[in-house]
Amino acid sequence: MTTVLISGAGIAGPSLAFWLSRYGYDVTVVEQARGLRASGAAVDFRGDQMALLERMGILAEMRSYDTAMGDQLIVDAAGRQVSRLPSVIFSGELEIERGDLSGVLYRHTKDGVDYVFGDRITALDEQADSVYVTFEHRRARRFDLVVGADGQHSGVRRLAFGDGFQVDLGYYTAGFSMPNVLGLDHSARIYNEPGRYVNVSSARNPRRAAVSLVFASPELAYDRRDLAEQKRIIAEHYGATGWVVPQLLRELEKADDLYFASLSQIQMPRWSTGRIALLGDAAWCGGPGASGTGYAMLGAYTLAGELVSTGDHAVAFARYEEAMRPATTKSAKFATGAGKFLAPATEAKIRRRNRTYRFLSSRPMTGLINKLAKGHANTGDLADYQPLTTV
Ligand SMILES: Cc1cc2nc3c(=O)[nH]c(=O)nc-3n(C[C@H](O)[C@H](O)[C@H](O)COP(=O)(O)OP(=O)(O)OC[C@H]3O[C@@H](n4cnc5c(N)ncnc54)[C@H](O)[C@@H]3O)c2cc1C
Repeated sequence: MTTVLISGAGIAGPSLAFWLSRYGYDVTVVEQARGLRASGAAVDFRGDQMALLERMGILAEMRSYDTAMGDQLIVDAAGRQVSRLPSVIFSGELEIERGDLSGVLYRHTKDGVDYVFGDRITALDEQADSVYVTFEHRRARRFDLVVGADGQHSGVRRLAFGDGFQVDLGYYTAGFSMPNVLGLDHSARIYNEPGRYVNVSSARNPRRAAVSLVFASPELAYDRRDLAEQKRIIAEHYGATGWVVPQLLRELEKADDLYFASLSQIQMPRWSTGRIALLGDAAWCGGPGASGTGYAMLGAYTLAGELVSTGDHAVAFARYEEAMRPATTKSAKFATGAGKFLAPATEAKIRRRNRTYRFLSSRPMTGLINKLAKGHANTGDLADYQPLTTV
């Protein structure tokens, strides 16, 4: 039986584990966090991505987690509506919270996959017929193949390819949950000050709200494991911000699910070397608006399908890259301006952006946007691979 080690139990890792375990591979997933990381903004699915969920047999279950998000209102400092964004622009054909998606993928894989939480790979030694893997805590072991699905700051990428593939876009993003203090009902509020974006939404769970922030900043030096430091950085950037932001910052102090990251892209000349491949954000992170979650799942499907249908990892890795690269490159290009659009630098630019929102919200435009977004979600044809043996 072919043994595969996947680093990262975010979205890409469990998606790949889903397919490989059903194709008869012996799969281990190692995740550095002590459990599933269930936070993050809602993610939307369209086009091919919906067909994929159906093929995975999880579409109905996913629908039960639909946020059913309604319109989002852009507000001024007094909370008055400036503009209204229809949900079709942001919420796709199906929108679910990242944490719910992560839970669905885990539940559908945990029985056939060896999940190891609280550990990580520290060395990869590729040999002719296997990769000898050293872990921080576990005993070293050989695997036939290793896949880095460990996100934007991938450890596998660093070990197998070195540093230097990250391109910073000049913004940071943060997300956390808090009590629904604004009393939102399947709705969101968006507030801007120059270089700062705030989004508060509440959908499926009326008691909770999700806060998403994007702010402009030169590159920051901070410890990615130090949440207190990240909270301080956010408080410094949002300290003088109006609307309900002081209240949000008080809630941030109490949050235990903070997600904090630079808006960056990963640009790599190739996604595999020998028996080691990269998947998802580790390979092609495009930033917000680049359909990162949908592509992670499509990439997992394609990588597993090529492995099982070719039976040769070198051919499979090349075919997987050939299938995924054009679409992920295009969507990353599209997303390069996301920071500037979400958090314009001046009041005049915020007003101009709001005018764009108003234009986009007009009825003929929402149809067009939906069509364009659907195009972005597609990689071409969803290839047919070997039918599942055990489900
Ligand atoms: C907690 C969390 C919240 C997020 N929230 C947002 C959001 O609000 N907005 C947004 O645009 N994107 C967010 N993302 C990123 C988003 O999930 C991805 O862009 C997309 O879903 C692609 O998924 P991925 O599996 O490639 O990467 P990710 O979802 O980032 O998953 C990577 C996984 O690998 C783990 N990991 C990292 N390094 C190592 C290592 N060395 N060894 C083992 N495991 C490792 C991480 O803990 C994580 O579980 C979030 C990611 C996480 C982990």
